[in-house]
Amino acid sequence: MKPNFKELLFASFEFDEYNPLQTKLLILNAMFFITIIINLLFMIINLFITQSYSIFFINFFMLAFIGYALYLLREKNQYLLASYIGNATLVIAFITILLLKHGEKYSLIWTYFFVPFAIITLGAKKGLIVSFAFIMVILSITYTGIDVWENWDLETYFRFSLAQFIMLYVIYAIQNSNESADSKIEKLRQKEKLQLKLLKKLSITDTLTSLYNRRFFEEVFPRQIERASSNKELLTFFTLDLDYFKQYNDTYGHQKGDWALQQIAEILKEVFNKSDDYTFRIGGEEFAGIYLDGDEANVHLLINEIVEKLKGRAIEHKGNPAEGILTCSIGVYIKVNEDDLSHQEIYRLADEALYKAKKKGRNQIIYA
Ligand code: GH3
Ligand code: MG
Ligand code: MG
Repeated sequence: MKPNFKELLFASFEFDEYNPLQTKLLILNAMFFITIIINLLFMIINLFITQSYSIFFINFFMLAFIGYALYLLREKNQYLLASYIGNATLVIAFITILLLKHGEKYSLIWTYFFVPFAIITLGAKKGLIVSFAFIMVILSITYTGIDVWENWDLETYFRFSLAQFIMLYVIYAIQNSNESADSKIEKLRQKEKLQLKLLKKLSITDTLTSLYNRRFFEEVFPRQIERASSNKELLTFFTLDLDYFKQYNDTYGHQKGDWALQQIAEILKEVFNKSDDYTFRIGGEEFAGIYLDGDEANVHLLINEIVEKLKGRAIEHKGNPAEGILTCSIGVYIKVNEDDLSHQEIYRLADEALYKAKKKGRNQIIYA
């Protein structure tokens, strides 16, 4: 993430996706950037106007280290190291200013800047500890100045201390509430993602057989054609239709018919079990499959296996002249690299082959 000048100045950035870490990175970028600008400004003031060279060198030191931290952040993605360097630089610089200037000319006011910087860049918990330690050091030093430094008595000291702790509390509370909101949002997002995944799965699955449905068939078929041509593989497409299935329903009832459809689905899943094999229920008792392979012999083996497995299950079907068991007809089209048919055309060719198989007496495989 590399916010530009304007994005840094206003700490606003067009995120592709909401992510709490990116917000944190943006704030760190912006904080470093603003610190550099302020130090540049003060270097000029201290050099040419007030001519306080010691402060000029402190500003220079801050500029160099914060600049390095910004470089680490933007160029090396070292978020943690950058924020540690940033915080350490500020601690050293503020304490040095305090020791040199003894709080004259309101220079103590800069120490208030550290708490928001530490808490925002280090996070609520770490920031609270570091800020508290910083405040304790500052308060110990300023305590020694009571009635010694100019305009610095016990009452002023207490006011200063109270303001430090109030600042600490307010910034901590803001950061803490942001962080808990972020973690809640993150949890919700994870849940949403899971639900979306489930929904996607449901939308492409046939409920009866849990094969892919027609909708997914339309989506994946063109994709697999492209894949086959880029891999220089054969694409096999087949359609399968049960024989005399209307009669099966009439004889055994619709529920038994549904069960038979599930048997076919099981067989298809057994035979086509690679991750890039796709089997579908594309209609009532019509099934289809897409299979990628370089070797045509495998295709014949697998298609035959469907028929063999269905025969093996010997599902009784008295109305079927073929041995009185449930059979199917299959139309196959094997697409070679040279033809560039669309998925609609391939579907039509396989369907024509299926029709031929039906006409020729069913219970057979026809290759287009
Ligand atoms: P053919 O050998 O020519 O294919 O004859 P067929 O009787 O199988 O004819 P067709 O393919 O047109 O059969 C469609 C039948 O499939 C009609 C309907 O009873 C049955 N069918 C379609 N969807 C379902 C379903 O979801 N469950 C059940 N049990 N039967 C279905
Ligand atoms: Mg049919
Ligand atoms: Mg049929």
